Amino acid sequence: MRYISTRGRAAPIGFRAAVLSGLAPDGGLYVPASWPALSPAEIDAIAGLDFCDAAARILALFAGDELSEEALRGFAQHAYAAFDDRAVAPLRHLSGDDYVLELFHGPTLAFKDVAMRLLAQLYDWALDDAPRGKTIIGATSGDTGGAAIAAFSGSSKAEVFMLHPKGRISEVQRRIMTTVDVDNIVNIAVEGSFDDCQRIVKDLFADKAFNARVDLGGVNSINWVRLAIQTVYYFTATAALGEAASFVVPTGNFGDVFAGYVAKRMGLPCRKLGVAVNENDIMRRVINDGVYEPSTVRPTTSPSMDIQVASNFERLLFESVDLDAAMLSALMAQLEDERRMVLPPSLVEKIAADFCADRAEEGEVSAKIKSVKASGGMLVDPHTAVGLVALDKFRLRREIEGPAVVLSTAHPAKFPDAVAEASGEYPALPARYADLMSLRENLIEAPAEAAAIRAIVFAHSKFV
Ligand SMILES: *Cc1c(COP(=O)(O)O)cnc(C)c1O
Repeated sequence: MRYISTRGRAAPIGFRAAVLSGLAPDGGLYVPASWPALSPAEIDAIAGLDFCDAAARILALFAGDELSEEALRGFAQHAYAAFDDRAVAPLRHLSGDDYVLELFHGPTLAFKDVAMRLLAQLYDWALDDAPRGKTIIGATSGDTGGAAIAAFSGSSKAEVFMLHPKGRISEVQRRIMTTVDVDNIVNIAVEGSFDDCQRIVKDLFADKAFNARVDLGGVNSINWVRLAIQTVYYFTATAALGEAASFVVPTGNFGDVFAGYVAKRMGLPCRKLGVAVNENDIMRRVINDGVYEPSTVRPTTSPSMDIQVASNFERLLFESVDLDAAMLSALMAQLEDERRMVLPPSLVEKIAADFCADRAEEGEVSAKIKSVKASGGMLVDPHTAVGLVALDKFRLRREIEGPAVVLSTAHPAKFPDAVAEASGEYPALPARYADLMSLRENLIEAPAEAAAIRAIVFAHSKFV
């Protein structure tokens, strides 16, 4: 399987390189040169498989001849052994035609674990013959960092330097990262905002002298293989339901919902893909009105979706212009020059064939958490509640009919204050986190300057 850049000016790469890659050298994102296709019989066969076997079967299509289904099964079994539900991603009935797909049973209580844990296994494989490992530097507003730290902890092929904005993530989020006590993980609390953290990471990736000494790797959500892994639960959820569903996906960077689109392109029977956003609603605006225009980020109770640049949307645009890299590049240049991008009506129409989009106000989110608890006792986190609010709106407008699955992207105990305030019940952490609040934290504080982070990397890296 070959992967090409959406901007058309980077050489195609294979699966091994895709495992380790973030942005393509031409500034684009990698996508498969063509979609692997599954026949209806092959899709039916997935219904008989457990999650690890399904993951191996589907990812083998993306790996091509570089990695066997059998090897992938071993990686998947290793990756998902730490999940606290044997189904990995269990489907639960909520009411009527509404279902919830629980993606938070991994070590760090959010859906990012599903892709990150298998990606870490694939990293070790991809670097098998490499003389030294990769230095992963990332910025996190909470969930990605925790998932990366848990997944790569103890790896001999990677070390992780994770930056978070000091005092601006929840205590549970911070402790999930900082109580991991192994020598290939370094937590850095930056005296600044998440944007400062991201800017520093960008500066370090652009620093040629630094890169000559440190072999940098990224694991952020533009990594293609993370998306490929996320297609798996669309297949297993459809199999568990026994019929084609619509999926409603709490969305930030447009990665998770794009994985649903990929599953559909691979042949999975699927009705609508509902894009659910909080008050940071750039994806609702572009899908409904055709105008993509970042504004300023507004903090909400669903912080993992407080995003104004939905990087993975570029992948959908590329599909929508029929892989015309020149046209895609022109659209992205317009965005860079004018800070907004206006899609031609034909594109808006094409996107509307697969997607619908709506947003949830903060008041609607807390009312939903409360009403779900009142009607059946289930506690849902604010990100999941955004999805449930959007589903109600889709049903009202008949944009979604029939069975619908809302992706539940975080455990309620990861955002306990918002859940308790809305529902009156303080969600309990799973037993394995019983001592989370008393364990010693490991972190280094640093000013919001690239030079300070560089010095920390040199002082702690075992690869330089
Ligand atoms: C990252 C995240 C999302 C958004 O996923 P995207 O792939 O960025 O759209 C939603 N909910 C939670 C809890 C997350 O951590």
